Amino acid sequence: MTRKVADCRKFPSETGCTLTIAGEEDEVLRAATDHAVSVHGHAESPELREQIRGILEEEKAGT
Ligand SMILES: [Zn+2]
Repeated sequence: MTRKVADCRKFPSETGCTLTIAGEEDEVLRAATDHAVSVHGHAESPELREQIRGILEEEKAGT
């Protein structure tokens, strides 16, 4: 199984957040959306979810 990784450093923000969330795509999307809303003050919307989906990467084995 390949996990997906959402690296907050790839998300435009002024806070210099370094959080990385890894897991199955649905889990990462949910957690990253919560994080973007609660920590970065984004408004929850389909657009936000699409933006987050756009920065998801496959987790590289052994890193
Ligand atoms: Zn963050």
